[in-house]
Amino acid sequence: MTDYLQTPLQYLKGVGPKRAADLQRIGLSTIEDLLYRFPLRYEDRGRLQPIEGLKAGQEVAISGRIQSTHLRGTRRPGFKIFEALVGDSSGSIRAVWMNQSFLQDVLRRDAHVVLFGTVEARTGLQLMNPDYEVIDGGDAEGDPTDSAEDAATIHTGRIVPVYEKAGAMTPKMQRRLVYEVLSKLPADLHDPFPEDVRSRLNLPPRRTALTDAHFPPAGTSIDALNRFRTPAQMRLIVEEFFLFQLGLLMRRRAAVRESKPNVVTVDDRIREAARRILPFRLTDGQRSALKEIVEDMQKPTPMNRLLQGDVGAGKTIVALLAALVAMENGLQVAFMAPTEILAEQHYLSLRRLLEKSRFHVELITGTTSGLKRRDLLARLAAGDIHLVVGTHALVQGTVHFKSLGLAIIDEQHRFGVLQRATLRAKGMMPDVLVMTATPIPRTLALTVYGDLDVSVIRDMPPGRRPVMTTLKTESRREDVYKIVRQELERGKQAYVVYPLIEESEKVDLKAATEMADHLAQEVFPAYRVALLHGRMKQDAKDRVMRAFAANEIQMLVSTTVIEVGIDVPNASVMVVEHAERFGLSQLHQLRGRVGRDSYQSQCVLLYQYPISKDGKARLTALAETCDGFEIADRDLEIRGPGDFFGTRQAGLPLLRTGDLVRDHSLMVTAREEAIRFLENHALSEPFMASLKQAWPTRFGLMDIG
Ligand code: ADP
Ligand code: MG
Repeated sequence: MTDYLQTPLQYLKGVGPKRAADLQRIGLSTIEDLLYRFPLRYEDRGRLQPIEGLKAGQEVAISGRIQSTHLRGTRRPGFKIFEALVGDSSGSIRAVWMNQSFLQDVLRRDAHVVLFGTVEARTGLQLMNPDYEVIDGGDAEGDPTDSAEDAATIHTGRIVPVYEKAGAMTPKMQRRLVYEVLSKLPADLHDPFPEDVRSRLNLPPRRTALTDAHFPPAGTSIDALNRFRTPAQMRLIVEEFFLFQLGLLMRRRAAVRESKPNVVTVDDRIREAARRILPFRLTDGQRSALKEIVEDMQKPTPMNRLLQGDVGAGKTIVALLAALVAMENGLQVAFMAPTEILAEQHYLSLRRLLEKSRFHVELITGTTSGLKRRDLLARLAAGDIHLVVGTHALVQGTVHFKSLGLAIIDEQHRFGVLQRATLRAKGMMPDVLVMTATPIPRTLALTVYGDLDVSVIRDMPPGRRPVMTTLKTESRREDVYKIVRQELERGKQAYVVYPLIEESEKVDLKAATEMADHLAQEVFPAYRVALLHGRMKQDAKDRVMRAFAANEIQMLVSTTVIEVGIDVPNASVMVVEHAERFGLSQLHQLRGRVGRDSYQSQCVLLYQYPISKDGKARLTALAETCDGFEIADRDLEIRGPGDFFGTRQAGLPLLRTGDLVRDHSLMVTAREEAIRFLENHALSEPFMASLKQAWPTRFGLMDIG
């Protein structure tokens, strides 16, 4: 069966290879893509207003012919104003565009145009920078296939969709294309959205939804359309979300059917062993997270759990106690960090905590020498090493375990890099615990966590004080140094952080290097200042880090390499240079390097002009709160989900009609429906097969499994 919706766009009349390539560039290759893409907005051209009688302040759509045009200069060199006098049978009005000289080739005399904008009173009424569309004549991008009849039925006289421009494919050309494609939709178009779900939610069938979402019937609320809340639009959004959630649930189901080779048990002896290594009382949040984790470990299916907690919340000790349970059950544990420095830090603190136990802890990194490495690998395979710390290379390389029971993955904020699939592919089926310091905003949680169990530590170890955060402009630099000096005099340590942006890496690195020299020689000659950056060799980095941790260095000037989890509680002040260049969540992560004990720490955000409105909003948000969840919500508001942490990396789906923030409540509905659907239906083989096939291509995510 050839599916009409899968027809490549280049085969359509009036498209051809060049225009198809333009559409492809914005992600549209098939009819399905074209139809499952909402317009940017809708314009009501059903009641085009007569020009006579327009009033200042009205938002209007008018239709008329261009009677004359005029391009004039202004006092500002190069700045031109284009004017057109547009008339219909009732009268005429002036339209004015600033600095768009090219319009003289687009809006020609006698052309029939539709203008959309707000009426202003100047010397007479006028439309300032209105949106325009050439219905016929004068359009330099010419579209001779559009007849006068098209103009009357497709482009005016109704509510029309306005699409994103795609190269030479104007919004108008796309409108006609969509119109034609819709007019040929097969009457018996297959509908992947289950009938009973659809009718319970009172949503229209697919064919109606597609048609009405692009060419809304007369009387549809323009306001509802532009909020994407008509039944037709919601039907397409919910369809997308429903299939997505169904896939997540199936993936989870597949995981639940697996059974792991080793199930742990917990008894009083193990509880006592845990008590012995614990250096402090767990917070309530830590205790309940640990309980959930250990319950999972006692189940016959592999654990797949995310441990979420803000920087400094104390995730490491929770992971270690879980590790202890595994080791007491005769199983091995792999502890993986995103970088070698972090792996080493974890190694040092885990070894210290396990000092009094009988378990052997070792570190394997890229810099472990050949001989030592071979020895360690042999001991690992023999089961003589109980806990091994390393980077992700641990499970990706040629490492064999005797019996790996638990894999702990400290991803910090780099969520989702390593997935269960990697382990399974290596024939291992351990419990998996992923730790992340990225507070996922509520609105994204259902999507990102759809197939994971989650434990959240919301409280902080006792005695912590929120980091005092202040904004300062470059002109206050001396004040900032005063703050830093005060801390150093008290025996504390300081971070100075530089942004490092890939495009200007060399320049930034030079700035950081010069600043380190300047601080060392001129500003703080009595203290030891060192530089740390990503281009340094691993062992050089490690030396600096160790010296800083031992307080042999008092001030660390670094590029953002420190954001991934350094723990030096004696550091009490952080200065962030060019704070305006960092993202909100990134700044929050950075700030988490100070305030790691009960001492009052400070963070100074130095910024320079020009700073964007968003940039200022980010810095202000950071100064106002230390709550990672609140910061994540604000970050999402400011940036939108796509940018939140890089769609692919975060495991966010590629969505066509839905928007994770705007349509959050529909995602909740879709999830409930998907759960109910799976409970009540034995999925037919063809349905499963089509979902399995569609899932990765449609959402750009990994297999359902
Ligand atoms: P993160 O969640 O960012 O990985 P860590 O596990 O590194 O946080 O813990 C941060 C610091 O807090 C460490 O120095 C750790 O020893 C300390 N800590 C953790 N839990 C507690 C607790 N319950 N009481 C006191 N200090 C704690
Ligand atoms: Mg940590």
